[in-house]
Amino acid sequence: MSRTILVLADLRNGAVRNVTFEMLSTAKKLANGGAVIASIISNNSGSIKAEELAHHGADKVLVADSAALENYVPDAYASVLETMIKDVNPNLVLMAHSAIGRDLAPKVAARFGAGQVSDIIDVTEEGGNLVFTRPIYAGKAFTKNTVAGDLVLATVRPNNLPAGEADASRSAEVVNVSVDLPADSLRTFIKEVVKKSTGGVDLSEAKVIVSGGRGVKSEEGFKPLYELAEVLGAAVGASRGACDAGYCDYALQIGQTGKVVTPDLYFAVGISGAIQHLAGMSNSKVIVAINKDPEAPIFKVADYGIVGDLFDIVPILVEELKKVVA
Ligand code: FAD
Repeated sequence: MSRTILVLADLRNGAVRNVTFEMLSTAKKLANGGAVIASIISNNSGSIKAEELAHHGADKVLVADSAALENYVPDAYASVLETMIKDVNPNLVLMAHSAIGRDLAPKVAARFGAGQVSDIIDVTEEGGNLVFTRPIYAGKAFTKNTVAGDLVLATVRPNNLPAGEADASRSAEVVNVSVDLPADSLRTFIKEVVKKSTGGVDLSEAKVIVSGGRGVKSEEGFKPLYELAEVLGAAVGASRGACDAGYCDYALQIGQTGKVVTPDLYFAVGISGAIQHLAGMSNSKVIVAINKDPEAPIFKVADYGIVGDLFDIVPILVEELKKVVA
């Protein structure tokens, strides 16, 4: 069965995030000859290369560009996406399981009375139906769901679907979508955006993450972790224990009430491994735990465990890795 699939591009500072390519590639496979349509909602669409979206599977790119779309305003984005859905009549809408996607998908699904499934890590076709896989019980189990109806909206966890090879011979038609957002249709306004710096590497898309817990003991104690992250080109994350203790910003928190990450390599340093932390990182491909308590629960999910004082071990790792990482 052929399908029309609409993929909302996930944008950060005018750049397309990798999860967009992961969604497009998957959409291409599921479309079965139907159309894959990328959607850009932005105030700065000029910085986005439509051909990059085409190379990963988009046949058409819808662009809604307006100063009113500079920041995520729920009513504005929902209204634009609703217009796009009415225009192209997709069977499936994919968007990132980001702060925006988590808010936008159910809002727009409700407008259409459509089905919605959150935080998927896979979608396949079985017997003509789309089957969505999502983690439950803090990542300890997975459910496979089918969703009734002609339209389904799904949010996709980054770093799980394959992004596939880019095909530079592909191109896409670019269609501008007019944006009509009367002020009285918007119930919320952004008055100010305060940006927090969390280092160079985007945590939710990082391939390697070095996370610290209460075991680092202070803000100063995070320094060796930042050095390790620098050698590995990694992002720095944290447990809620470390955030609550004021050692780092809450923007770094990983877990049930923080960010959900799926890197290739995750270092849990001075983190006990509470279930709420595991909910955010247990699907990492390789987990390395450093903890002075050999009974710490983190060792149950770790692929490699180092028992010892992190302040001895992390500097040794940094020195040794400097020798092998160019
Ligand atoms: P601790 O549990 O105190 O562990 C510190 C670890 O460091 C210990 O294992 C200790 O052996 C080790 N250590 C100490 N010194 C050293 C050293 N020198 N060298 C090596 N190891 C050392 N937590 C999250 O992380 N993310 C969430 O999103 C989250 N959401 C929550 C939501 C709810 C509703 C609730 C109730 C809790 C949530 N928590 C969350 C909190 C969670 O239950 C734990 O309290 C928290 O994860 C503990 O953080 P921690 O492992 O850093 O600290």
